[in-house]
Amino acid sequence: MNTLAAWIQQAKKITVLSGAGISTDSGIPDFRSSAGVWTNDTSRQYIMSLSYFNRHRSEFWAAYKDIFKIKLAGDFKPNYGHQFLAELETEGKMIDIFTQNVDGLHQLAGSKKVCEVHGSMRIAHCTNCGETYDLDYIRSEAVPTCRKVEQKENVCNQYIPVPDRSLHHVVCQECGTRHVIHEATSDAIRCKGKKKREYRCNHVLKPDVVLFQDSIRYFPEAKKSAMQSDLLLVVGSSLQVGPINEIPQRFPAYKNSVIINKEPTKLDHCFKMVIHGSISKTFQQLHQKLLSSSH
Ligand code: NAD
Repeated sequence: MNTLAAWIQQAKKITVLSGAGISTDSGIPDFRSSAGVWTNDTSRQYIMSLSYFNRHRSEFWAAYKDIFKIKLAGDFKPNYGHQFLAELETEGKMIDIFTQNVDGLHQLAGSKKVCEVHGSMRIAHCTNCGETYDLDYIRSEAVPTCRKVEQKENVCNQYIPVPDRSLHHVVCQECGTRHVIHEATSDAIRCKGKKKREYRCNHVLKPDVVLFQDSIRYFPEAKKSAMQSDLLLVVGSSLQVGPINEIPQRFPAYKNSVIINKEPTKLDHCFKMVIHGSISKTFQQLHQKLLSSSH
């Protein structure tokens, strides 16, 4: 703890890679630990893929809402793990967070520089018109669809009977266009006036999370940030998901790096320091050390 506190104090810039483990203390299960969402049901990885979403949108939404506990999502609160990182930034430390999480809890804790490499569960968008929707709407509908209503102008095309050619004009009941009647006008005319119609987009929304077969976001930025940092801090990730797991593998060995994770990972050998334990508890101890060394 003394060494880690000293590394944090000395670091001008820290790059944080966070994973599902930082949010388990907020009540959101992770994916791959012994109690994880994937561990007991591997079919869920197939369901969370782009090809499944494209073919079975309703079933996708039911499974997705279950996996990410969308019904509860609005009630999740940041825990001490998120708060500690936000406090370090408030105290003036340069901290870039690249999170694999989709829960938005780093931002809710107050962290400013957060890149969500796997997107966000707080937003969904329409793949047809691009309209975006917030968590309240996502939670309110079993299968959220796009509510956007557009007005389009079409040719009216209504048949208008002309009962009497002595009339000067007839008015289309559909669009209100006035048609002048001539000697040569037949018994009925087809209205060529313009009519406004309302169309509801109605496409099933896609959550803003990166699905299997989607590409991840901010990877070049994460690599750049890590190379410019004095300390790499990985918290709560099994580091099984690529390409983000390349960052600890490429991080220069002469710089300081630490992973805090309950369970061992296959990449523990890439770090100078490995802590197998709870993130919140580790950060609480670290906070005490930082306080005592500043007095
Ligand atoms: P993961 O499930 O593969 O691994 C999480 C790791 O965190 C495990 O090794 C576990 O031992 C550890 N852990 C759990 N609770 C911990 C705690 N309190 N303290 C310390 N360590 C703890 O997670 P991952 O590597 O982030 O990859 C999973 C993918 O699933 C991510 O890409 C993410 O998009 C998605 N996911 C996100 C959330 C979320 O947004 N909260 C939740 C589940 C999964």
